Amino acid sequence: MSRPIGEEAREDLTARGYSRRQLAGIAAVFGVGAIAATSGRPSWAAIEMPAPTPNAKVRIDKNECWTGPMKVGQAAAVAMVAQGNRYFPNDARNDLLHAVSAVEGIPADHVSPWPGSSDALCRAVVTFCSPKRGLVTADPVFELAGATADWLGAPVKRVPLTPDYRHDVKAMLAADPNAGAYYICSPNNPTGTLTPIEDIDWLVANKPDGAFVIVDEAYIHFADVPSASRLVTEGKDVVVLRTFSKVFGMAGLRMGYMMARPEVIRTMQRYDGGMTSGALCVTTLACAVASLTARDEIAARKAQLRETRAMTVEHVKKRGLSVVPSEANMIMIDWKTKSAGDMRDAFRAQGVEIGRVFPAWPTHSRVSIGSMDDMKAFCATLDRIWV
Ligand code: PLP
Repeated sequence: MSRPIGEEAREDLTARGYSRRQLAGIAAVFGVGAIAATSGRPSWAAIEMPAPTPNAKVRIDKNECWTGPMKVGQAAAVAMVAQGNRYFPNDARNDLLHAVSAVEGIPADHVSPWPGSSDALCRAVVTFCSPKRGLVTADPVFELAGATADWLGAPVKRVPLTPDYRHDVKAMLAADPNAGAYYICSPNNPTGTLTPIEDIDWLVANKPDGAFVIVDEAYIHFADVPSASRLVTEGKDVVVLRTFSKVFGMAGLRMGYMMARPEVIRTMQRYDGGMTSGALCVTTLACAVASLTARDEIAARKAQLRETRAMTVEHVKKRGLSVVPSEANMIMIDWKTKSAGDMRDAFRAQGVEIGRVFPAWPTHSRVSIGSMDDMKAFCATLDRIWV
């Protein structure tokens, strides 16, 4: 169900070196939202996002929140259901732009909502990369940007993290000094580690003309760090991505947003005439607007995460295993003598679903931090299977 690409976007893409076959592929990216087809396989499947295992008792595999949307968000969404006969029962999309503006200190016209940040991430890759100008990512990192570029035929360079788990921005620039985009994920998925804002500043100051730095802040609410949104307000070639799928507990409701200069937003929307960003689910919008300013609940969730994560890390370390120090709702455990795939199978056999394998780190498993009960069950299972 792909939508045709508009004439202006088509001309721009052709000028940037995309072939007719690749244009059809781009239409498919946006026709099905974030699900870019990779030789017939959706990219979510390519990065192992299968449906949950039916018998999983503990689901700590996808970095979801351990609990549902915030109370105020749920109430707002429920109240909106009865008005679902209208395309636009109120101006909730605009309310979201202004709520983000107030919380982030960024002009409302620098904000663009999407049904999840995955769509915006795929679009950013299509917009800034091409067969002539590639993508640079870290490794390991959230794979969607790289998978999209691979599938589009844009060259991809994957650069190892530094020994202290930052994105190695100097090595990233050196890997492709003329890339179309540099993807930074901070806190990083899967390691939960931070890339200091000074490093991002450096990359933005030194990147080639015309390139963009894509900063994915999906997990920023769990950490105490400044956002890269300042660079957007300064007019830099930066897009910042946010999602409601993590601290806000709305992964299945699908909402995210992007912060960028208005003309960049317009460029990214032209592939589908603004449809995906414009026609949003009104119950989800209502939930997002109400949740965004629920400061006390955000702080409470962050505190809860820290307590649960600390308990889990302490338990795992007592078993002699090492854990990458994380600032997000996931940890990477190094099994050293066993493969991540074997450990995932061993946990799965016990009804505990842990994260997918990141090939750059074959002996590390990503374990999302669930509820305290989830993590106690995880620790008890570890004690049973790690002998
Ligand atoms: N960016 C990162 C770093 C993620 O880990 C994820 C999902 O896990 C996403 C983006 C996609 O999130 P969304 O649910 O908003 O599409």
